[in-house]
Amino acid sequence: MQKFIALLLFFFISTIANAADESNTNIIFLVGDGMGIAYTAAYRLTQDDPSTPEVDSTIFDEMLVGMASTYSDDHSLVTDSAAAATALACGVKTFNGAIGVDSRHQPVASILDKAKQLGYLTGIAVTSQVNHATPAAFVAHADSRQSYDKIADQYVDLRINGNPKVDLILGGGQEHFIRKDRNLVKEFRALGYSYESTIKNLSKIKQLPAIGLFAALGMEPALGSTNPLRLSEMTEKALTLFQDTTKKSSSPKPFFLLLEASQIDWCGHSNDIACAMGEMHDMAVTMKIIKQFIEKNPNTIFVATADHSTGGLSLGAKGQYQWGATTVKNIKATAPNIARQLLANKTNWRNVWQLLTQIKLADDEQKTLDSFINQADENTNDVNIGQLTTQVLVYIDKYTATGWTTKGHTGEDVQIFSYGKGKQNFAGAMDNTDIAKKLMAYLKP
Ligand code: MG
Ligand code: ZN
Repeated sequence: MQKFIALLLFFFISTIANAADESNTNIIFLVGDGMGIAYTAAYRLTQDDPSTPEVDSTIFDEMLVGMASTYSDDHSLVTDSAAAATALACGVKTFNGAIGVDSRHQPVASILDKAKQLGYLTGIAVTSQVNHATPAAFVAHADSRQSYDKIADQYVDLRINGNPKVDLILGGGQEHFIRKDRNLVKEFRALGYSYESTIKNLSKIKQLPAIGLFAALGMEPALGSTNPLRLSEMTEKALTLFQDTTKKSSSPKPFFLLLEASQIDWCGHSNDIACAMGEMHDMAVTMKIIKQFIEKNPNTIFVATADHSTGGLSLGAKGQYQWGATTVKNIKATAPNIARQLLANKTNWRNVWQLLTQIKLADDEQKTLDSFINQADENTNDVNIGQLTTQVLVYIDKYTATGWTTKGHTGEDVQIFSYGKGKQNFAGAMDNTDIAKKLMAYLKP
């Protein structure tokens, strides 16, 4: 009998000890798509107060812990966002284009799948369409990232314990979710989800489950937008909703949240440095919000990384030992937006250029821009926007000494940032698949 009581006591104490160990850690995973090392350095330099001699550190510096290799499993060694996302979501190497399938095209479970299976609350918030490669690898399975509608369908069709996998879906992508052949938003509503279609109505989302699709495809670029901190706002919302849900529930509910600063990569593909810094700022503010959350909720692990670098960005180009951080900081719109506004103000374009870039062009450069702008036929401005955008970027790169080697991705290692419970797990050199494996190790029944 005494033995029995001792055993009972042992189980009782170990259960309490487990609870005290807070085995169910919240997981926040943030992917800066395309954010190679040059991007975080550029961000540091553009944020610096030039009136003081030392360069101030950023939230990225504060949280830096390690480096990850990113190669994909198809001998190219340079990954795309789909293979890298599958590595980060599922912990397996695969071929470029693959969404949640391994190199034999077999579906593999993601950390989000595993978390949901264990009863975690799940969320994704991204600035691309929500079924774009990075978030898709956490939710869906497809041989091609291009099968956007098929991937969107899986957000409703794939179930865990009878429910869709993701309790909170925020980002863009109406075009793929509200279609002639299928209205997935309607289907989500029938399953109890609330729906909002504009970021202005984010505050109207009061409880889980919910879906917010705030653009036809990707959300507006941050730079020059009326809503430049949309990822930060969505992150704040997600954290509040998770906390409210757990407060209402009888037992605390841990959560898994995937965030993506999706468009750093898009700016990189466009070789648009000011555009990229706009996206970086939203990501940095998002990281500050997460830091504050973890200070109040220490049973949380946060990891941020990039899936690869984009554009071969270099600070300094063509033999110049300088980089125009202040000039970059003063640019107020993305290159296509600058081009559009120049074309909309043909007689007055020099003032508009000055207002948007503060770059003083040489006479022959002004003549070049003028010919682009004023030779443009009123009706075919669209055709000229491409050419003019390219020329705008030529001058931005020239006057800031910014270099690019490609319109695609590059294969160097990426940084790992971490904060919260067990952040030292992510220190040092590792492969991108290790990040997923280490995060999965946090999941407990
Ligand atoms: Mg992405
Ligand atoms: Zn890309």
